[in-house]
Amino acid sequence: MPGYELFGPEERKEVNDVLETGIMMRYGFDGPRKGVWKAKELEKAICEKLNVSYTQLASSGTAALVAAMAALGVGAGDEIIMPTFTFVASFESVLAVGATPVLVDIDDTLTLDPKAVEAAITPRTKVVMPVHMCGSMADLDALQAICKKHNLFLLEDACQAFGGTYKGKALGAIGDAGTFSFDFVKTITCAEGGAVITNNKDIYLKCDGFTDHGHDHLGVDRGADEHPFIGYNYRISELHAAVGLAQVRKLDRFLEIQRSTKKIFKDALAAIPGVTFRRIPDEAGDSATYLSFFLPEAAQAKQAAANMKAAGLPVFYYYDNNWHYIRQWKHFKEGSVLTPFAPGLKQAMEIYKTKEFPASDAVISRNICTPINLAWSAEEIQERAKKLVDAVKSAL
Ligand SMILES: *Cc1c(COP(=O)(O)O)cnc(C)c1O
Repeated sequence: MPGYELFGPEERKEVNDVLETGIMMRYGFDGPRKGVWKAKELEKAICEKLNVSYTQLASSGTAALVAAMAALGVGAGDEIIMPTFTFVASFESVLAVGATPVLVDIDDTLTLDPKAVEAAITPRTKVVMPVHMCGSMADLDALQAICKKHNLFLLEDACQAFGGTYKGKALGAIGDAGTFSFDFVKTITCAEGGAVITNNKDIYLKCDGFTDHGHDHLGVDRGADEHPFIGYNYRISELHAAVGLAQVRKLDRFLEIQRSTKKIFKDALAAIPGVTFRRIPDEAGDSATYLSFFLPEAAQAKQAAANMKAAGLPVFYYYDNNWHYIRQWKHFKEGSVLTPFAPGLKQAMEIYKTKEFPASDAVISRNICTPINLAWSAEEIQERAKKLVDAVKSAL
C-alpha cells in the first residue's frame, strides 16, 4: 500500500473515458454521457469483488462513515463504542451526527478489546464500531456475539482494510454496514473517495439518498426525484470513481505483493528474541498493508522506531502520533469545536479531559508499525529486511 504506488496507464484510460464525454457528474446527463457510468461501474465491481449486496460510493471515507451512521439512525443521545486507536475520522463522524463517542481500550489485536466493549455498554449504546487498523481485523466473532446479545448495530470502519477478510468474508461485509476510504494513502485510491457496503437494502437506500441531498433516484430525471429525507452532497465524482475502477482491478496483485513482502520482514524479525507480533484473529484474511510488532519495553520500541527512521525505513510509532492514538488528540480531549456541542454531548465529552487509558498505552507504547510498499524490488526488500533487523536489534 498505498495504491498510488502502482498508478499507470490503466487509471489514465478510465479517467480519459470520462474526459472524452466531459460528464464528470455521477448522476443524470444520460444522453451526453454516452453510456459512461464510472461510479455505477465501481459500485458493481466492489459488490462483486467483496461478495456484498450493496455498495454506495461517497466523497470520502469520513463521508461514508457519516452516511452509514445516519442510515443506522444514529444521532443525539446515542452512544457509539469505538477504540482509542483509530484515525481521527472515526470520532469526527460520530460527532458529525451529534452522537457520543465512547472510547474503549484496545488489546494486542490493535483493535477493540471485546471485554472493554461489553463493560462500556449502557442503555444509550446503539453501535459498536470496530476499526480494522493497519490492514487487519478485530475479533469479529466476539463483537458480533456482543452486538447480538445487547441488540446493537455492528458498524465496521474498514477504511484501512480493503481486501481483508475474516473467515472467508470481506471485512466491512460482516457487520450491519462497513465503510472504506479511497483517499490518496489507502490500499485502493480514487485520490479522494469512500464507500459504504451492506447486505441490508434499507441501509443502502438511505446511504444512497443521504449522500445526494436526499434524492430518491427514482424519478425519470433528477428534477423528478422525491426527497423522502434531508441529505447532503457527499457524492463521488466520475473522475475519482474512474481512478478507483482501475485500482480495484489491481487489488489481487496488491494483496499478493503485500503478503509476500510482509512475510519476508516478519520471518526476519521473528528470529530476534523479544520481538512479538500483533495478534491477528484470522491470519489468512490479513490484507498485509503493514507489519505490526511489539518490543518488551516502551523505551525499546521508541528507540527502534528512531533507528528505523534514521535508516530510511518508513515507520509509525503511534504512541507519539497525533492522528491515530488518543494520547495526543488534544482537540478531542479538550472538546475544541467551532460550533458548540449540544448540552448532553458537552457533558459526555468532559470525561476525556482527564480519562486515562493505561491498557491501551501498554499496547501502543510498545508497538511499531511499518507500511509495506508495493513498488519495492526484490533486492530492495532484502536490503530493507536487513536494515529492519539491525534497527530493532540495536534497540534491545
Ligand atoms: C482514512 C480513514 C478514514 C477516513 O477516510 P477519508 O477518506 O480520509 O475521509 C476513516 N477511518 C480510518 C480508520 C481511516 O484510516
